[in-house]
This record gives sequence, structure tokens and C-alpha cells, in this order.
Amino acid sequence: MPKCYEHKVIASATGAISAFGYGYYAEQDFAKAWQYALGGVLGGRITAGIADFLEPSKIFGPNHRSFFHGIALNGGLAAAAYNPGKEWLLSLVHKAIECDNKQEPFKAFRYRVLVGLIIGGAGGHISHLLADSITPNGLPLLC
Ligand SMILES: [Zn+2]
Repeated sequence: MPKCYEHKVIASATGAISAFGYGYYAEQDFAKAWQYALGGVLGGRITAGIADFLEPSKIFGPNHRSFFHGIALNGGLAAAAYNPGKEWLLSLVHKAIECDNKQEPFKAFRYRVLVGLIIGGAGGHISHLLADSITPNGLPLLC
């Protein structure tokens, strides 16, 4: 079973890679993609243990995975958030580009870190669930 430290390392790396990939996909610029990756590390680190925070093994026991680790809840949230999230993230990328055009690099940097934080947060949580899913206990469908 992955422990808290392993989850944080895996989620931070997943957050950085996924946010870097999204940033490069959105702007086709390696020099700007690292700004997304920075947000991705933070986002992944923040969400690394959120499922275990909501269902701690100290209270629920070693087989603590239930509703918040469930495939139904997480898959449903991902499906519901996909389209509005995609539009919102693209609008934030456009704001970052507008700030670049207005010679406001720090404001543009903040928008890119925010987008990276969101992408990395999603990636960090998904990496937690994937890491849990390959253990003998696996993940529950519902709870
Ligand atoms: Zn877990």
C-alpha cells in the first residue's frame, strides 16, 4: 500500500508532467511550459493525500478505501468537470497570453501557475487513485 510520502512524490511528479504537457500543448513554447509545471508540482502535492485525508486509515482501519476512493464518484466528477473545465482552462491561458501582449509578465506567470495548479491537482489525485488501484485492496466501485 502506498504511504503518504510515496503518494506525495508520485503526485508531484504527475502534476508537473501533466501541467508541463498541457502548457506546451496550449502554447507550443517550452520556455513558458515550465511555469505550468511549477503550478503542477504544487497542485499534485496538495491533492496527493486528499482521498486519504477524507478517509483516514486511523479511523476507518487498514481497508479504509470507500466512497471518496470510489471509481463511480471520481469518474463521475471527471466526466462532469471535463467540458466546463476545459473551457475555463483555455480562457485562463488566453488571459496569460493577453498579459504577455500587454507587457505584464508577472500577471501572465500567475495565470500559468494557476492553470498548472488545477491540472496538477487533478493529476495528483488521479495518480493517488492509480497507485491505490494496483495494490491488493484495489479501489471500490462505489463504496
Ligand atoms: Zn488512498
